[in-house]
Amino acid sequence: MKGSLAYERLHANLQALNLGTVERGIDTALENGVRGERSLTDVLDELLHQEVTARQALSTETRVRLAGFPVRKTLDEFDFEFQPSVDPALIRELATMRFVHNAENVIMVGPAGVGKTHLAIALGMEAARSGFSVSFYSASRALGKLRQAADRGLLERTLRNLCRSRLLILDEIGYLPWDRQMAHLFFRIVENRYERASTIFTSNKAYSEWGEVLGDPVLAAAVLDRILHHSTTVNIRGESYRLRVRRKAGTPTPVVPMESKERSATRDAGPARRK
Ligand code: ADP
Ligand code: MG
Repeated sequence: MKGSLAYERLHANLQALNLGTVERGIDTALENGVRGERSLTDVLDELLHQEVTARQALSTETRVRLAGFPVRKTLDEFDFEFQPSVDPALIRELATMRFVHNAENVIMVGPAGVGKTHLAIALGMEAARSGFSVSFYSASRALGKLRQAADRGLLERTLRNLCRSRLLILDEIGYLPWDRQMAHLFFRIVENRYERASTIFTSNKAYSEWGEVLGDPVLAAAVLDRILHHSTTVNIRGESYRLRVRRKAGTPTPVVPMESKERSATRDAGPARRK
């Protein structure tokens, strides 16, 4: 078989068709077929299945890279026992990506270190695996980027680009104060995506404090009205995972006056809700 014209052409055509995985596996598969160990249907099925799986893995990897995650996190790595306020069934439901299909939002609310960013990234990775385009930004960085674009007269184009992904993750709303222009740009993002595409927001601030975050209670109400219309809130009330890890290692934990403040801040964020 090897060296025959048909054999050479088979390999050349598989290369031309970009079927690299099939090409690498076909010699062994053909030998098995010739020995009668497996039916031709099984052999072809397995070769093509391998090709499709390899391609899916490659395009997932591309989408994950394009998403710009600061680190990679998965749902498997999330310790639900450590964070009992997070309902695993709710996260599993979100991981089905129904919310992305339906252009709904997810808001992760809670104090520092409880796993908001972890869960947001893990859901983003699931979205990439399911074939959705994903973008991850710290909210302040996204707004800074839009502000720069506005200064150069490129706001509309940059906003369109920023909002192109089926899933946008805006991390850390409320960590840094925003000025009027940033608050307005935030409204533009929310308005652009409303009922068209999903956004995951993470925040250490309860909804009642978004007026302060945006520096304008009326604008905050308009923003929240749109975000919450089709949304799931994941309200995480718990201990910082970082502090626990440090405590376990025997390192004295710093006194964090922020923590108690943040905790009381999220208490009135309301129960997890779906609409
Ligand atoms: P937040 O965004 O709420 O401040 P992060 O998601 O950044 O917190 O979590 C801080 C660190 O602790 C990250 O390395 C994250 O992977 C880890 N972490 C947080 N919660 C959990 C958890 N329940 N199980 C496993 N790792 C966790
Ligand atoms: Mg975070």
